[in-house]
Amino acid sequence: MPRSRTRPARQVISGGGDYLIAEINRLGLEPQVQTAEVSKTDGNRNLVTAATVRNILVRVAGTSHTSAILVSAHYDSEPGSYGANDDGVAVAAMLETLRMPQAGPKPKNDLIFLFSDGEELNLLGAEAFWRDHPWARDVSLVLNYESRGSRGPSVIWDAGPGIAEADLPYIFDRLYTGEASRNRSSSGSGLGLAIVKRLVERQRGRIDVQSIPDVRTSFEVRLPRAK
Ligand SMILES: [Zn+2]
Repeated sequence: MPRSRTRPARQVISGGGDYLIAEINRLGLEPQVQTAEVSKTDGNRNLVTAATVRNILVRVAGTSHTSAILVSAHYDSEPGSYGANDDGVAVAAMLETLRMPQAGPKPKNDLIFLFSDGEELNLLGAEAFWRDHPWARDVSLVLNYESRGSRGPSVIWDAGPGIAEADLPYIFDRLYTGEASRNRSSSGSGLGLAIVKRLVERQRGRIDVQSIPDVRTSFEVRLPRAK
């Protein structure tokens, strides 16, 4: 039998649930609370994590009830961690996003907002949603907002056709358009990257590009910290 070890329940902070419920009510929407007991085994570390989680959910009906888009972030955080960043910023952005379908046109797909609990305990809240919640079956696309740190470069990348090696030294030049771009019906003006580079350098930052066509093309922006 594998050796088991126990440790006292870690106190994660998830007291924001009542606040979320109040804010969602204030938007005129009906929050739903999913309470569940969940456990997960981490085989590599011979560790079982168990907790009662309290997920908070809202569903915004779309115009065609074909499938739903799940928007999720976790509202629990670890004591002593950077909870505002991980994942408070995303929770705030989700609350703000919830306001939009109220104010503007209705989305086509249903939107399910999941404020999950117990993420810091091995994703227990997400586990409860996918295991038990009836809405999970309607989801066809997931947008999960998680903190990737509060420093380091901002990166934008894709896996598209990219930039030919011969073009790379020139792409930040004004009015330069690469061979592929020149031959496309909708060619760019060759101004966008020149403007971006100028803006970044004005803030004493730098922008770098790397391109492996059809694999990964990325732009990294580094800005110095404000003094
Ligand atoms: Zn997180």
